[in-house]
Amino acid sequence: MGIFDKCNEFTRADEAIAMGIYPYFSPIQEVYGNKVKVDGKEIIMVGSNNYLGLLDHPKVKKAAREAVDRYGVATCGSRFLNGTLDIHVEMEEKLAQFMKKEAALTFSTGFQTNQGIISTLICRGDAVVTDQMIHASVIDACRLSYGDVYKYKHNDMADLEKKLSFIGNKVNTMIVVDGVFSMEGDLANLPDIVTLAKKYNAKLMVDDAHGIGVMGKNGRGTAEHFGVEDEVDIIMGTFSKSFSSLGGMVVGNKRVIFYIKHFARSLIFSASITPASVASVLATLEIIQNEPERRERLWEITEKMKSGFQAMGYDTGPTESPIIPVFIRNDELTFMLWKLLRENGIFTNPVVYPAVPHGEALIRTSYSANHSDEELNTVLGVFENCGKQLGILK
Ligand code: PMP
Repeated sequence: MGIFDKCNEFTRADEAIAMGIYPYFSPIQEVYGNKVKVDGKEIIMVGSNNYLGLLDHPKVKKAAREAVDRYGVATCGSRFLNGTLDIHVEMEEKLAQFMKKEAALTFSTGFQTNQGIISTLICRGDAVVTDQMIHASVIDACRLSYGDVYKYKHNDMADLEKKLSFIGNKVNTMIVVDGVFSMEGDLANLPDIVTLAKKYNAKLMVDDAHGIGVMGKNGRGTAEHFGVEDEVDIIMGTFSKSFSSLGGMVVGNKRVIFYIKHFARSLIFSASITPASVASVLATLEIIQNEPERRERLWEITEKMKSGFQAMGYDTGPTESPIIPVFIRNDELTFMLWKLLRENGIFTNPVVYPAVPHGEALIRTSYSANHSDEELNTVLGVFENCGKQLGILK
């Protein structure tokens, strides 16, 4: 029984369910643009990573349907063996072109992409240095590697330099950062990180799950935003956000990508991206490239919401992206606000430790290019009323 004792002793979630403040795994029954049906009621979604609003775009849905007709609903195998379709190859060629890198490789999720890249490239005797607020998939990927793992304080360049100088120039080192940090919405200081990477002869990888499609004039992400694309060796992205699909990609030097392709266990020993998801990526990639007005509208919305929350007295922290956190800094109050928002027709995500540090609980909001001003004004109004009701706002 010993192995299962912890399962029986874990009662925190049961208590939250009993109190009616359990926010997780709640089923969405239907999706209509930026509205979703939950518990039979239509509510406004501001908790999705559907940044460009392509989740139900007619061209994307049509492409997915046609792929199902042509290839079926699954690949039933890994890319390595029977699971490579011609559209996987086409997608990788187009992604490499879009990202202006020599080659691209795609995995079935972003999580597996990070596992594949890092566990393959970082070997015994190598070092990997990450920001302490890096995404869980990078943390796990580092654990899977045989290298030495170092963490520096969030966006603290002095601490990064301390770690790099401790490691020294003789050890093969890779720095891994999120371009956009997924909960707080702030950016990695890529220009300074690039300088330090050069000084200490380290390679640089950016997980730009939340940056690609959103950041930079052409949507190539945080490295484009900062004008340092040529200085970033490896960029990783996911399809579960701006691309409104499922899967992940890595882009970089041809030889590096070719090597990862032959050694990444999360690629070789796992089934490939389904036909419908590949077709969705191809369709959304075209829209990302041809409709910059979506990105422009997203930034307009971001400014509106950030200044709206701040004017009410909410603390939105250091965000510089369409991820706008509302810091509550108290777990219980965060869950109470989440519940009140939900009852008043707004879908948000409450975020507590370990997704954020202890004492930094927040309500994560995020926006889509096709949110209407009317929807956004409703969201702001509800946030204001609920904040006052709970005494968070004066
Ligand atoms: N990296 C970051 C920064 C993320 O936010 C996420 C997903 N939340 C991932 C990687 C994993 O991506 P996926 O959902 O495609 O597995």
